[in-house]
Amino acid sequence: MVEIPILKDDDPEDRKENQIYVASARRDVMEELMMYYSSWWKLKVAVSWLLRYKRYLKNKILQRRESSLNKQGLEERSGHLTLDELREAENEIVRCVQRKEFPEVIALQSEENQRLVKRLIKKMGASLSKLNPQVHDRLLRVGGRIGQAPLCYDLKHPVILPYKHHVTDLIIKDHHLKVGHMGQESVLSSLRQKYWILKGRSAMRRVLSKCFDCQKRKAKPPEQFMAELLKDRVTPSEPLFTYVGIDCFGPIEVKQGQSLVKRYGCLFTCLPVRAVHIELLHSASADSMINAMRRFISILSTVMMRNSDSVSDDEPISPNHLLHLRPTPSLPPGVFVKGDLYCKRAWRQAQSLTSVFWRRWSNEYLPTLMERWKWRMPKENIKAGDLVLLADKNDPRGEWPIARVVEAVVGRDGFVGAVRVRTASTVATQVKRQRRGELKASSVVFTRPITSLCPLEMDV
Ligand SMILES: [Zn+2]
Repeated sequence: MVEIPILKDDDPEDRKENQIYVASARRDVMEELMMYYSSWWKLKVAVSWLLRYKRYLKNKILQRRESSLNKQGLEERSGHLTLDELREAENEIVRCVQRKEFPEVIALQSEENQRLVKRLIKKMGASLSKLNPQVHDRLLRVGGRIGQAPLCYDLKHPVILPYKHHVTDLIIKDHHLKVGHMGQESVLSSLRQKYWILKGRSAMRRVLSKCFDCQKRKAKPPEQFMAELLKDRVTPSEPLFTYVGIDCFGPIEVKQGQSLVKRYGCLFTCLPVRAVHIELLHSASADSMINAMRRFISILSTVMMRNSDSVSDDEPISPNHLLHLRPTPSLPPGVFVKGDLYCKRAWRQAQSLTSVFWRRWSNEYLPTLMERWKWRMPKENIKAGDLVLLADKNDPRGEWPIARVVEAVVGRDGFVGAVRVRTASTVATQVKRQRRGELKASSVVFTRPITSLCPLEMDV
């Protein structure tokens, strides 16, 4: 008797069963064609040509079949597309969309059992059932309740379009352009001459929010969570104008003799107490600015400058660094009480008054800075690659240049307060310079605070 050994699982002679999974996806050519176009008009024209070609092929077959009998075929069409052909193409596209989106409703409309039809429509949701949909000329239309009104057929029974479909978006976009980029209600009333979109207002909002031209007109500067106040603004007991913020304004036209000249102002603000000092700038040049600063320093002695637009927090070099070899000189000693106000020595009176001022400043003014009057919620930061409009109050809004963010400058608190941007014209300048052999790439990138730009929510 021969003993048969038991075959183990890992025996090389054992053939493993291979499992193959096959998935097939049906390609819808019409759907692909619709998705290809981003303009309703272009899609209509393309389908019109296709329909004409279909008609031509049909004619050929008919002629071949019936050549022996009579040469009666479809009417030949040539030359430019006609209005009827475009209308036919429009209906054909909508039919295709409806067949895909409401297949059961269209299939059942031809049935006798009206109760079944009504039950199915009810199942499809209130937005469709309340329209009492009916099929006419293979198009699903609103049955509605204004059939008796003396209006044209399309207005009484508009064609139903689904809420979310590429063709719906194209039609909304087309009407939005037709009414000159007007708002939702105007577009909706223009559309309802012929179409009824399910959840129309919501669909309208979805499409209009993506309109590039409208965004350019309406975009607002972003807001970011208000930053912590700098140490210089909340530190008491320093001499006035020790820490200053600087900003320039102008030009202001001034009469000089017979002519008008442009003059600018330079505003110095004491950071802790908000006292201001204004110097005149004779021009917008660096020399003028240096002179203004020299005048200011000679009047108000030791100064630690801080530019108001600066977002970096590097320690600025001041005369104190050179004279005392440290950033802040310690204050002269002395404790002054209320009684010093009435003593004979004037300097003790003055010091006592100063102490009173700083005590009140700490108790009464400083707490008011605690509140964040605006920009209370952290927002999403602008990032590199974003598209923005550079707001310039001197130019009309339509002329604000579009720019691309090259780099986001993150502040100490982790929020983006400024960005480095590049506009199309600066890119062109750069290309020209490179062609000429000048490589000055850094000079064509601007730094702007986020409050002076409007982010566009789209990318082109
Ligand atoms: Zn628009």
